[in-house]
Amino acid sequence: MKVLFVDQTGQLGGGELSLLDTVRGTSHTAEVVLFSDGPFRRLLEEIPVPVHLLAAGSAGEVRREAGISSLLSAVPSFVELRNKLAKIAEGFDVIYANSQKAFLVSALAKRRGQPLIWHLRDMLQADHFSGIMRSVAVFTGNHSANLVISNSQATLDSFIASGGKREKSIVIYNGISPAPFDTFSEQMVGELRSELGWQGKFVVGAFGRLSPWKGQHVLIEAVAALPDVHLAIVGDALFGEKEYVESLHALVQRHKLSERVHFLGFRRDVPQLMRSVDVIAHTATAPEPFGRVIVEGMLASRPVIATRAGGAVEIIRDGETGILVTPGHTTELQEAIKRLKTDSGFLNQLAQQGRQSALADFSVEKMICNVDTTITRFSR
Ligand code: UDP
Repeated sequence: MKVLFVDQTGQLGGGELSLLDTVRGTSHTAEVVLFSDGPFRRLLEEIPVPVHLLAAGSAGEVRREAGISSLLSAVPSFVELRNKLAKIAEGFDVIYANSQKAFLVSALAKRRGQPLIWHLRDMLQADHFSGIMRSVAVFTGNHSANLVISNSQATLDSFIASGGKREKSIVIYNGISPAPFDTFSEQMVGELRSELGWQGKFVVGAFGRLSPWKGQHVLIEAVAALPDVHLAIVGDALFGEKEYVESLHALVQRHKLSERVHFLGFRRDVPQLMRSVDVIAHTATAPEPFGRVIVEGMLASRPVIATRAGGAVEIIRDGETGILVTPGHTTELQEAIKRLKTDSGFLNQLAQQGRQSALADFSVEKMICNVDTTITRFSR
């Protein structure tokens, strides 16, 4: 079947990295539409897969917290985008929208009877979206999507709780390949640690884009009171959260932590870096829709501490395959880090069990097969 995948961004967020694996592995004939350029386009073209770049204009500026007036002022730009997408989508059997904005434009652009799948990768909740954005998304989901694929049960539940139709929704978990984690030997880990100046140090790694709800500030606060612990922050603001990045740097200055907190920026060698830290902490303050970085940390055979909310709860069994702490709770986080620092038996046990669980439950082959089979349901 001919499938047109549509995504709103050329940046490399988790949704885009999951789509990259899907497009690389799919047995269907794939082409991709992006509403903005970036490194994602180049990786798709390397597969190789044809990519259509459509300038989004002011529709691209509409944020998830947008109110009715900014939505209305972007209507002409949405119409223009819709017209361009409709032309490209004509010859395809299925449209597969990988993000919310991509879904809204696809719903307007699809032919009558042309199947539309929405891969929902966001929690439709007040701490992520404005009321109007949620209402528009759920209304369109109920009326125009043939199927809503959620990346976790938590995401699906948020769709239903916002008024989404249960009979239209299924869960397909993200899958992640262990291969990049396995090709990095212990010797290479040692070399990278010494290059980064981490020999003999206990390093906690935080991986992911820098954004207030991802909670990197909570981790900095926690580490401030743990004098022997270093923190590596890997990632950058991908969607305009520059002020938050500045506030993180200011927090580090205020606590005089510049010797112990290392900002590494956005990196393409996440598997290697994960193998080079002692513990991985993911301290989101709002429910994480899925949390690829949690599974990646487990595949890297490192114990993962995550906050007890959203997708994290479906990935980690507390005390068995990782540790769950209360969102925003600095003391619990400190206790978890201290325990792992002092109890190497517990650290190794979590790392091993976490790895086995990630391999069994979040295989990339399973994800691709589930997506492919789902698409095939719409063949006519
Ligand atoms: N990531 C990356 N480089 C970085 C930071 C993060 O490649 O510097 C990747 C990370 O390995 C993961 C993805 O970005 O695969 C983030 O996905 P996640 O589901 O954790 O969060 P999202 O971006 O979807 O909110």
